[in-house]
Amino acid sequence: MRRSLWTAAVLTLAACAAEAAEVKTPVSTAGTTADVAAPSLPGGKAAVGDFGIDLAAGKKSVRAGDDFFAYANGTWEDTFQIPADKASFGEFERLDDLSKQRVRAIIEAAAAAHAPKGTPQQQIGDYYAAFMDQAAIEANGLKPIQPQLDEIAAAKSRADVARLFGTIGFASLFDTQLPPDFKNPDRYAVFISESTLGLPDRDYYLKDDPQLKAVREKYVAYVAQMLTLGGVSADPHADARAIMAFETEASKVQWPVEQRRDATAIYNPRSKKQLEAYAPGFPWQPFLEAQRLGAREELVLAELSAIRDLAALFARTPVPTLKAFLAFHYLNDNAGELPKRFDEARFAFYGQVLRGQPQQRERWQRGVDAVDDALGEAVGQLYVAQYFPPQSKAKMQQLVADLRAALSERIDALDWMSTPTKSRAHEKLAAFTAKIGYPDKWKDYSALVVRADDPSGNARRAAEWAWDYQIARLDKPVDRSEWGMTPQEINAYYNASNNEIVFPAAILQPPFFDPNADDAVNYGAIGAVIGHEIGHGFDDQGRKFGPDGAMQDWWTAKDTEVFTARTARLIKQFNSFEALPGLKVNGANTIGENIGDLGGLNMAHEAYLISLKGKPAPVLEGLTGDQRFFLAYAQVWREKFRDGFLRQLVLSNEHAPPRFRVNGPLPNIDAWYTAFDVKPGDKLYLAPEERVRIW
Ligand SMILES: [Zn+2]
Repeated sequence: MRRSLWTAAVLTLAACAAEAAEVKTPVSTAGTTADVAAPSLPGGKAAVGDFGIDLAAGKKSVRAGDDFFAYANGTWEDTFQIPADKASFGEFERLDDLSKQRVRAIIEAAAAAHAPKGTPQQQIGDYYAAFMDQAAIEANGLKPIQPQLDEIAAAKSRADVARLFGTIGFASLFDTQLPPDFKNPDRYAVFISESTLGLPDRDYYLKDDPQLKAVREKYVAYVAQMLTLGGVSADPHADARAIMAFETEASKVQWPVEQRRDATAIYNPRSKKQLEAYAPGFPWQPFLEAQRLGAREELVLAELSAIRDLAALFARTPVPTLKAFLAFHYLNDNAGELPKRFDEARFAFYGQVLRGQPQQRERWQRGVDAVDDALGEAVGQLYVAQYFPPQSKAKMQQLVADLRAALSERIDALDWMSTPTKSRAHEKLAAFTAKIGYPDKWKDYSALVVRADDPSGNARRAAEWAWDYQIARLDKPVDRSEWGMTPQEINAYYNASNNEIVFPAAILQPPFFDPNADDAVNYGAIGAVIGHEIGHGFDDQGRKFGPDGAMQDWWTAKDTEVFTARTARLIKQFNSFEALPGLKVNGANTIGENIGDLGGLNMAHEAYLISLKGKPAPVLEGLTGDQRFFLAYAQVWREKFRDGFLRQLVLSNEHAPPRFRVNGPLPNIDAWYTAFDVKPGDKLYLAPEERVRIW
């Protein structure tokens, strides 16, 4: 239920990590060539093709200038079948499969060690074993969560409901999160934000669209089914309709994605008294006490008007409806650890109806996810010992330095930016730090009690542990060594509050990064990824943060004006892309990512040219250096989607679909025209004055 408000401060590379549990990238062994044994080491052969590009994947009958994504990936796209247990498949999912298989082997070895209680091996092994013991799960029925269902049933007043809203594990209209304060990144702040609801985003409740109307009807049926299975309602159909009406009203006042990602708009410091006066309909004190924040006087409100209006909605909603809302979501959120009838009902709605995925992933894959969610760094520590060669770190450090040098040159050459803003941009760039592979300091989970016979309890205690961890350090200086991803994740991020770029070990593999691939390929793949993350520091939100991670305006008014005008043109370009019939990409919602992609490609290309030191690039199998650079970029983004999942991505995620992350930025880059002889009349052709040049 927790929606990350960090979208404003922590920008990820890909959609897969930015989504809630059930929306997470699914995994499977189908269609993969997993090498669980060893990572690829320098001195060998490239992992893909002769030099890092899958030449058979492209489609030469397509003109590069008409559809570069198809030119690079079209044959693969025409022939590859998405596995039945996936909602999408591409390089991210393929590597995710590989991570899952490696982690499974790590878990099984941990379990076999029969280590003492409280050791990482015992915790990992028992967490997984409990999740996998389906016979015990069936036999126990609802017993493991009965105390929580009883607490909901016993709630009498709005204050009782508010207390449950604040208790870890229960649904709520509000979330509390404890990131660094945007304006003072040395200390943590208490942010209160709107919470996610049962459907992915507000359009699912509100938009007049036949597909979404059908989803709404099925959602109501699913809610009634869960209430029936849980035996928590005297009239499940009436309660389901009341829950739907309540969530629909909530979605009306919630902010759209493009507003939620505005760092300035979601930073509203208020005292508790001010909050109580501004949003009086909600009993804030019992809510904050349940969060162990009862004595906190300083808060930051994120979606300001939504918080006020959700509090008013709470005040006018009958208590029985609020209790039905809590009971449904408790069952829904815990379905993975409940008997099959709950788990299958949940998949039928979230997997099949919403995403169009025919089959549920195998149990072990979901078990690996569960262990990763609860004990991610304990697993990660074992993962990097086996699968992250130290040479990779040195090579990445070099690439990051190359990209930084390239951006520095590009800043000097910008014709639209004034000297004062340029010097501040240089200052920010010089202050960037990079984290590569894994944390220097690992989280200590020893206080977390994990039992081999209690999967629901394990999940609850893990969530409580994670909250305790944050509460315990709330008044201490910000821990700048912390990681927001695990080493085994296939993703990367920029954290504005720490002005840092972060690359987990698992993305530093082919096709993103291959010590044996051609340089042009590495610059086009991982180079563009590094550039993307650096680019977030200078996108429409990242530019609001200074070198030390504090939100501050370091731009002249004139430079802001030009930047905003150029950004508006990029928004317009992306608004014209159609993801599904009648469903256009949201240019405003995806602008930060698109600035990151465009800037990242420019930086990576410049870094590649610098690396050639004035010598011509070698031609390999008839491909020039620039051709290999752009093809490598397009190939890391190849991905196929089921319609339902693609719709969900477009309506609720700040990343554009991968096809447009290729066909969107490239037409703004002059070198791409030369490399592929793109001419007026080609579908992606933009006249030089139409090309957007930002970084
Ligand atoms: Zn990003």
